[in-house]
Amino acid sequence: MNGTKRALALLVICAVALGMVAPAAVAVKPLLPNEMGVRAYSYIEELQEIPRVSGTAAEAEAALVIQEWFEGLGYATEIQPFSYVRGGVTYDSQNVIAYKPASRPAARGPKAGPTQQVIVGAHYDKVPRGRGADDNASGVGVMLEIAERISKYRLPYDLVFIAFGAEEVGLRGARHYVANMSEADIARTAAMVNYDSLIVGDKLYVHAGQANRITWVRDEMLKYAERHDLPLEMQPGLNPAYPAGFSPGFSDVAVFDQAGIPVAAFESTNWEIDDMDGYTQTEQYGSFWHTDNDDLDIIEELLPGRPMVRLEAFTKVGYEFLKHYRP
Ligand SMILES: [Zn+2]
Repeated sequence: MNGTKRALALLVICAVALGMVAPAAVAVKPLLPNEMGVRAYSYIEELQEIPRVSGTAAEAEAALVIQEWFEGLGYATEIQPFSYVRGGVTYDSQNVIAYKPASRPAARGPKAGPTQQVIVGAHYDKVPRGRGADDNASGVGVMLEIAERISKYRLPYDLVFIAFGAEEVGLRGARHYVANMSEADIARTAAMVNYDSLIVGDKLYVHAGQANRITWVRDEMLKYAERHDLPLEMQPGLNPAYPAGFSPGFSDVAVFDQAGIPVAAFESTNWEIDDMDGYTQTEQYGSFWHTDNDDLDIIEELLPGRPMVRLEAFTKVGYEFLKHYRP
């Protein structure tokens, strides 16, 4: 620790002692346009410290931390509790929802329809092994950074962020959320954007929904990636079981897709190796998913610098879409 750092550390200690700084606060300085993904990275560091296995008290603790982060960004929030039965045992879990209502109507006059909404989601629970840095603190981090960057904009649509619980045990949080949407809410949901596992894979992907085959949200994302020279790809369809450009449906996004909502599913893996089914994330080290290697420190050791490059790209594309989208 050098002199400047030591002085800074002392300052932080004093600030904490005086109750000026909340211990879990990530948002300490304003975000710069050229620092895309930097905040997402800090969220991963904090979230991987909480062993938030689906349906446990630690998962509930993580939900409260995420809720506090959203509130710190000025969002109205809600915890949506639910329970599920697995192997004869009932478990409690919860989604964290943050709202940004439309600031101005998209259309005026008697012909104006209901206000459209866009849902951005990422699950925050993890499996027992590893620390869930890639799967899926990375998705939550990107979602929170986007929430921070977009908060000051006046948007012509309702924007809803959801951190899903219990994804790893059967997409339980997403199922509960969609089951509680009214038909009118489903009809006015223009898009659902999902982030799951972003920092490890060799390649960056965005998929459309395989069930409803609506592709415009995916194509919008590809357009913004191209505009900013980011290497975002479509799933290449090398395995006949998985048609090119579509999501295999293994994350929360599948539930929205099955409800007929247009989706864009972001992930980082490698669809060109092994069984070409997207399960092997890297050529060099295989998969990190659900192993002890899903830990930011180990990921940085094996693939130095990769997480930041991935976070920058995924944050930028999603943010650009929300900023420019006009229903
Ligand atoms: Zn996941």
